[in-house]
Order: sequence, then structure tokens, then C-alpha cells
Amino acid sequence: MTAPHPLVAQARRLADDLLAPHAEQVDQGEVPVGHLTEIRRSGLLGLQAPREYGGAAAPGAVFRETTEILAGACCSTWFVQTQHHTPVLTLAKGEGPVRERLLGRLASGELLSGVAYAHLRAFPRVPVRVTRERGGRRFDGKVPWYTGWGLNDVMLLAGVTDAGEALFAFADARDQPGLRASAPMRLAALTAARTVSLELDGLWLPEESVALCAPHDRWAAQDRLKTLNANPAVFGIAEAALGLLDEDTATPLRARLAEVRHQAYALIDEAAPHEHPEERLALRTRAYDVMQAATTAAVVTGGGRTMLLTHRAQRLAREGLFLLVQGQTRESRTAHLGALAR
Ligand SMILES: Cc1cc2nc3c(=O)[nH]c(=O)nc-3n(C[C@H](O)[C@H](O)[C@H](O)COP(=O)(O)OP(=O)(O)OC[C@H]3O[C@@H](n4cnc5c(N)ncnc54)[C@H](O)[C@@H]3O)c2cc1C
Repeated sequence: MTAPHPLVAQARRLADDLLAPHAEQVDQGEVPVGHLTEIRRSGLLGLQAPREYGGAAAPGAVFRETTEILAGACCSTWFVQTQHHTPVLTLAKGEGPVRERLLGRLASGELLSGVAYAHLRAFPRVPVRVTRERGGRRFDGKVPWYTGWGLNDVMLLAGVTDAGEALFAFADARDQPGLRASAPMRLAALTAARTVSLELDGLWLPEESVALCAPHDRWAAQDRLKTLNANPAVFGIAEAALGLLDEDTATPLRARLAEVRHQAYALIDEAAPHEHPEERLALRTRAYDVMQAATTAAVVTGGGRTMLLTHRAQRLAREGLFLLVQGQTRESRTAHLGALAR
């Protein structure tokens, strides 16, 4: 047996020693700064960053495995830190002053980033508009969802320009002229991740903060490929729920999980990202099915006491509900509903 990648070992250590033991408590409060301090120190925030900026440039399989481990241990903490990887990849693929200013600091964990871009998927509706002003960019509109408010340092904020481009720029993640956050939302799951909405009323950012500007359809064609695949966090929650079952119940579910995961990851590794979209969406849906079977079995196994907010089974079931809609697009929703109606 080969030794696990050092970052997989780090994720496992954090999950076992820190995240899982406190997960029910965190779920009822908020992600502690101390959890994120440990994540910053662990090297996991630089997992996908280039080596020349201090990152690990780890393969996709390592990213998937660490995602499974962290999400299965404490979904709220996983969700706050997972936002960081899109800004890292955006800078790694880009160029210009913002890359030099931020990529090394994001890779080392000195800075933790959030993202505000899912609203770009509603195009041609434009929830956030970007215009040129005073040699920089002005943002107006409303970001419906922003996770990690008060926990992360910077945000990668997206809007659409008058020329129909998707524009991404970095801003400080704090109230400032032109940017006001709502109170953190109380949600059915992941309230602890401090998700807010953001009112943008003339937020001005210098041109040097722009990390990406591309025609919306070109950006959307790439983004679409990301939301076709099963999310490894779904397998992480399923695994955690299997841990609450007796062996007779767990064994067949474990076999189903292994099969769906194997097929989903094989497609990611072996086919080009644009190939087999229907199969990818079908596997995404099947991953949800296994996860929900596992979390439901955990609730049924534990009986009435699983309704206590301190019980692990109800937390995992609620976190699973959240994953059903996270990163949902019209395409993935249609595929999922189609499978449910059959
Ligand atoms: C707790 C929580 C935290 C989140 N945190 C973040 C975060 O930190 N950053 C972030 O960027 N996102 C975040 N999201 C957003 C999340 O990824 C979205 O919920 C998900 O992408 C689905 O979007 P929706 O529910 O806003 O869209 P819905 O309005 O339900 O739309 C779903 C899809 O339908 C299509 N669509 C909708 N309206 C239109 C339209 N008018 N024209 C064409 N197509 C349309 C789009 O494909 C869209 O993606 C968070 C969500 C939740 C629930």
C-alpha cells in the first residue's frame, strides 16, 4: 500500500482530531476561527496552487479525497474553506498584478478567500452589473449568497459588464463604501458557515484588482463543465452516515457508494471534461441517491433520539439536503428531477 499524499494525511488528522469531534456543536453555532487557523496552517489552502507560488499543485484525486474527508467531518468548515479554491485557480490561470499580489498569500493560507459568483449563472438576468468608473470598476446589484462573511479576508466578486463580459475582481471581505452585508442567514443547514447576501451600491475597485474578464458565454461554457460532475462532498457525507449503521445495513450501501464513486471519478479522470455530459449528470444524481439512502438509514437506525439537534444523523441528513442544491444549475436540476419522477 502506498502512503497517502501528505495533504490527505493532514486532512485526515484535522478531521479526526478537530473537526468531527466538534461538528454538532459547530453546526449549532458558527465555524470557529480556530478551525480555520488550523486549516490555514495545514497547507490545504494551497492544494491546487502552483508550486512556484508555494502551493502543492496536487492532482485532482487528492483534491477529491480531501474534500470527502473534510465534508464528512464538518460540512460547515469544509464549505467555508472550499470557496478558497476557485480564487486560487482563477489567479493560477490568469496574469497581471493581482496574481503577483495575492496568489502566494492565498496559497500559504495567510489570506482566506470567499467567492460571490453563482449569480452569473442566471444570465441573461444580471444581478450584479459592472461599469467603468474613474479608471476602475464599479459594482451595483445584489449578491444573493456569500459564505464565510466575517471568517474570510478577501472575496472574488463577479458581475457582468455592459459588453456582456463576466468580470471577476478581488475585494476586501468587509463592509465598506458601496458594499453592505445582511445579517448571517439562519438556514436549514450550514448556518454555521455564515452566509450573507451583499448589497452593492457603487462599490469601486481599481483595475489592478481584476482577475478575469471574458465574454460571458466563454466563461459559462467552462463553468458548465464543473457542475456536471458528482460533488466529492456528497460521498463524504454518505461515508460519514455509513459509520452510524450496523454492518448488515452498511455493507450493501457501501458497495453502491463505491460503484457510483468509481464510475464518477473514472469519467472525470479518463474522459475530456466536455464528453459524456448526460452520464456525468446521471452519476451526480445517483451519488445523491446513495447519500440520501445512507443519511436516511442513519436516522432510522438511531430512532427518535436522532431528532435531537446534538445527534450526528440529523446533522448529516440536513447537510445532505444542502448539497442537493449547492452549485445547482438548470441542467442539473432537470436531470435530478427527471430521475426522481421516473
Ligand atoms: C447556504 C448557501 C451558501 C452559498 N454560498 C455561496 C457563495 O459563497 N458563493 C456563491 O457564489 N454562491 C453561493 N451559493 C449559491 C449556490 O451555489 C446556488 O444556490 C446554486 O448555484 C443555485 O443557484 P440559486 O439557488 O441562486 O439559483 P436558482 O435561482 O434556483 O437557479 C438555479 C439555476 O437556474 C438557472 N437560472 C435561474 N434564473 C435564471 C434566469 N433568469 N435566466 C436563466 N437561467 C436562470 C441558472 O442555471 C441557475 O444556476 C450558496 C447557496 C447556499 C444555499
